[in-house]
Amino acid sequence: MKLLSKIIYLLGAKVRNPSLFTIYENLKRTEFASRKELDTIQLEKLRSLLISAYQTSPFYTALFDEYGFDPNISAIEDLLVLPTINKSDLISYNKEIHSRATFSKKMLAETSGTSGEALAFYRNEEWDSTNRASVMRCYDWYGVKPWDKNGYFWGYNIDPKEAKKIKLLDKLQNRIRIFKYDDASITNFAKKLNQAKFLSGYSSMIYQIAKKVNQLNLSVNGIKMVKGTSEMILDAYQLEIEKAFGQKMISEYGAAEAGLIAFECPKGKMHINMENVLVELDESNEIIVTNLVSHSFPIIRYRLGDVISLSDEPCPCGRHHSVLKEIVGRKGSSVIGKNKEYPALTFYYVFKNIALKDDILINYKAEQREKGKILLKIEGMPNNAWETLIAREMKKYFDNDVTYTVTYIEKFESQVKKQQYFETFIK
Ligand SMILES: [Zn+2]
Repeated sequence: MKLLSKIIYLLGAKVRNPSLFTIYENLKRTEFASRKELDTIQLEKLRSLLISAYQTSPFYTALFDEYGFDPNISAIEDLLVLPTINKSDLISYNKEIHSRATFSKKMLAETSGTSGEALAFYRNEEWDSTNRASVMRCYDWYGVKPWDKNGYFWGYNIDPKEAKKIKLLDKLQNRIRIFKYDDASITNFAKKLNQAKFLSGYSSMIYQIAKKVNQLNLSVNGIKMVKGTSEMILDAYQLEIEKAFGQKMISEYGAAEAGLIAFECPKGKMHINMENVLVELDESNEIIVTNLVSHSFPIIRYRLGDVISLSDEPCPCGRHHSVLKEIVGRKGSSVIGKNKEYPALTFYYVFKNIALKDDILINYKAEQREKGKILLKIEGMPNNAWETLIAREMKKYFDNDVTYTVTYIEKFESQVKKQQYFETFIK
C-alpha cells in the first residue's frame, strides 16, 4: 500500500509538477548552508523576481517607475525604497499585477479574505512546485513523506455532493479524515490513525479530537508528526495533543500568496524558508513578505497582517535559516476603553502571563461590542481560581478603564476561519 501511494504521488507530480524533484534536490543541498550562502541565494532570486516583475507586470512597471527604482539591485536593502502592498491591493489591481509573460503551466489559487473578499491568482508551475518541495524538505525532518498515510482535520460539515469527490481525493492522497464528531466515529477514526504517520489540519480541530481521544481512553501510536495550520496554536492545546498522539503539535506558517514562510524543526524553532521568501518586519513588528518565486503574480513587500518576532539565536539542529520566534497575533483593531485605546494583543499577554506565572493554560476569546466593556469567553467549567488570576492580570493592563464579564463555554467550536484571540464588533 505504501509503495502504491508513493507511485500515485510520483505520477501525479510528474504530470502536475514536473520541476518538483529538481527543486527539492536543490533545497536539500542548501538545507545546512551558511547564512552567507543563504543571503546570496536570496539576493539573486530577489533580483531576478524584481527584473521580471518590472518587465512583465504592468502594476510593477508603473510602481518602479514612480519610485525611480532600478530592479537590478546590488543589495537586499535596496528593496526598502518600495512601498508595501496588502491583500486589498492584490484584489483591486489583480489584472495589472499578473505577469504578461508566458509560462509553461499555471495553476489557479484562491483564498478568502477576512472580510469575505476572495483573492484569485495564477501560480506558475515552478512556484507551485517550490511550495510542495519546501514542505517536503520540512517533512523530512520528521521522517515523513507526503505520500505516507495521514489524518486530515479540516471541518466536519461536508456537503454530501462534495463528499464523494473528497473521498476519492483522500484515497489518492492516502489520507483519512473524520466526517462526524460523535464517540463512535472518533473511536473508529482513532483506530485507523494507528496506520497513519502524520496528522495535519486546523489546530483547534486536532485539539478537539485529541481531547476526545483522551476522554475515551483510546490509544493512537506511530504518529511521527502533528502539524497545525491556519490558526495559532494555543499553548493549552499541547498537553492534550501530546497525550493523545504522542507528539506535540508543530507549526507551519504560510499563506497561499506568500508560500511556505516557516516550519518548526524538531528542536522547536520555526525556521524561515529563506531560499524562497524574504521576511522583513516594520516598526510595529508586522511581517512584510516577498515571495521570491512568485513570477506569475509577483508578491513584493506584502503585508500579511500578522505581528511576529524574529530571533538570531543559533538553533541546535544546525540549520542557519533565521528563526521566527513567535507569531504574536493578527494585527487587529484596538480594544476601546472608556478613556484610552489598547492593542488587540493585550489579551494575549494577559493569558500568557497566567500560563507562565501560574502554570495554568486557559483557552479564551475576547469580544468587544461596547466601549469600555469586554466579554471574555473561557473554555471549560466555571472556575473561581481562574477568575482571580484573570482579574489580577486584567487590572494590570486595563486598570478600571475596561470592565469585563466572563462567560464559560463547554467547548469552543472548531473554527473554519482563522482563530482570533480578540474580535471587535465596534465599527
Ligand atoms: Zn532548528
